[in-house]
Amino acid sequence: MQIHTGLTMAKAPVLAQGRSYLAIPGPSVIPDAVLAAMHRAAPNIYAGPLTEMMPGMMDDLRRVARTRHHVAMYTGNGHAAWEAALANVIRPGDAVLVLATGRFGIGWGEMASGLGAEVEVMDFGRAAPMDIDRIAERLTADSAHRIKAVLAVHVDTSTSVRNDIAGLRAALDAADHPALLMADCIASLGCDRFEMDDWGVDIMVTACQKGLMVPPGVSFVFFNDRAAKVRDGMERVSRYWDWQPRAEPEEFYQYHGGTAPTQHLFGLRCALDMIHEEGIEAVWQRHARLARAVWAACEAWSTAGSFGMNLSAREHRSHAVTALRLEPPNATRLRDWVQENLGLTLGIGLGMAAPGDPAWHGFFRLGHMGHVNGHMIMGMLGGIEAGLNALAIDHGQGALDAAARVIGGAD
Ligand SMILES: *Cc1c(COP(=O)(O)O)cnc(C)c1O
Repeated sequence: MQIHTGLTMAKAPVLAQGRSYLAIPGPSVIPDAVLAAMHRAAPNIYAGPLTEMMPGMMDDLRRVARTRHHVAMYTGNGHAAWEAALANVIRPGDAVLVLATGRFGIGWGEMASGLGAEVEVMDFGRAAPMDIDRIAERLTADSAHRIKAVLAVHVDTSTSVRNDIAGLRAALDAADHPALLMADCIASLGCDRFEMDDWGVDIMVTACQKGLMVPPGVSFVFFNDRAAKVRDGMERVSRYWDWQPRAEPEEFYQYHGGTAPTQHLFGLRCALDMIHEEGIEAVWQRHARLARAVWAACEAWSTAGSFGMNLSAREHRSHAVTALRLEPPNATRLRDWVQENLGLTLGIGLGMAAPGDPAWHGFFRLGHMGHVNGHMIMGMLGGIEAGLNALAIDHGQGALDAAARVIGGAD
């Protein structure tokens, strides 16, 4: 989305020709190999490579999510996976506790309301992680165990907050509370460390267009045996969202609830190969180092003027996305400038202010998820530095040096 402020842009040579760079927090950069894998004639959906690769693909998805349990695939985006997960375990009238640290937690809660759940939101604001002690108190107070599910977002993409999912499991266990732990890993899977089984997550939702590096359109619900048992106790589950046939299909079409998203599957197969060839631990380490380079630059810019990071504590920041602010309308001016002059697209400040509110133009985000490497991050940061200078936006010095040191191996 392009927001024009009507302000005169600084005169600069237009250097936007060349390969563009979409540095927003999803959809992410698509690897050439994934695009090439998708670029083929329509495949046979009844036999051959497409049907043969499915069992291995489900196993490889489990390896990314660090789970031995079940996975169901949907032809739909992250919102579809949100609804799918809820539709399998939540009845109208069930109590759901939503832990919000930004727009996405709120959004998942709204979806639960739409399905008739009785939704209680604990809102931790837009610049802090969820407070495990407060959650523990709330769970302990629910001695009748009315709360059927707790919805948490691992990385809230709107605020770049990363939440402690293992800590949430510990709080549930300490309160001896049977609620299902449901986690949204749409922004974090394949970027930030996530351990579904070790962290005791019952249900996890994700989508293919962020850390998984595939164009939007396929999403996943992972669930363990506890969650499967809850689903089996439901009087009815909508046929399309029912995860059971998708997780244990007898026919190829059951994986998808109908015709398969054929080209996406070839892209996903390729992306999973790339992830496992690099190694999931190495993928996490790459994201961690690239994030530290981004932070080093942003911390330097923040030493003067209005430039600011949404989260001051590094341990609460995601490795996939960074939320930033600049005196309005400078965030929009900067985004417009790098877009028009450099072919670099930065993310809008989602959920921090309403579009139309002047404050909207004071927020932006950097995506550094998926198929990104050192030169791309240095290019993105260099582009921002050029824009800050060209627009005469006051900012601290030394950002690129600081990022280069991290890219070069320093902590
Ligand atoms: C992107 C995102 C979503 C929504 O996914 P869509 O594919 O846009 O429906 C939900 N939650 C988080 C954390 C996200 O990053």
